[in-house]
Amino acid sequence: MKLDVIAFDADDTLWVNEPRYIAAEARLRELLSPYADGEAVAHDLHATEIRNLTSFGYGVKAYTFSMIETAIALSNGHISGTEIDGILQVGRRMMQAPVEVFEHVEPTLAKLSPQRDLMILTKGDLVEQGDRIARSGLAKYFRYIEIVREKTVESYRGLLQQRRIDPQRFLMVGNSMKSDILPVLELGAYAVYIHYDGTWEHEKAQIPDRLPTTYKEIKHIGVLPDLIETIEGG
Ligand SMILES: [Mg+2]
Repeated sequence: MKLDVIAFDADDTLWVNEPRYIAAEARLRELLSPYADGEAVAHDLHATEIRNLTSFGYGVKAYTFSMIETAIALSNGHISGTEIDGILQVGRRMMQAPVEVFEHVEPTLAKLSPQRDLMILTKGDLVEQGDRIARSGLAKYFRYIEIVREKTVESYRGLLQQRRIDPQRFLMVGNSMKSDILPVLELGAYAVYIHYDGTWEHEKAQIPDRLPTTYKEIKHIGVLPDLIETIEGG
């Protein structure tokens, strides 16, 4: 058996993502310290962020809106234009932050890409993710680059059908149980989980007691080529 497509989640799988958000939250706590304590800022920001997912989606732009909305709410509308500008700067800095590719990523992609079709499969803002992919320097390794709205069973199924990829010969690698692993397993495909300490709460999920044999777990991406050989060897 040979796998046809190896797909990779991007944020916190290929490169560092969540720590940017943690740093921005810390900065927002400082900026809003005249109006609310840090705990209240964190709590309100997270609630606003989740509520805004349906209207603004994922990513820094949506997060910046949520930071501003939080500031307006916690200051009872008294936040000044200058202070809002300070929040916009936080968002801008997140956007411009260098893309920090994890160790082992590039050699792994270089090893796999000559023999197999690789895919980046990420969700979020089209412009933002496109820019991060370009700046990562990794685009050359991928045959497919897919940026989707959400990673659900339906969106995976639609994508695989559209690309004529057999789920049994598809493998997805990622750090999110909820987005990268569980929906992929449900389609009968292979899913490889790489734990990342900083993973966003929202991306965690209850792990079922019994996982199918197509579920695999590795410590870091550097051991993926060996795992793939094992899978293909039967
Ligand atoms: Mg991720």
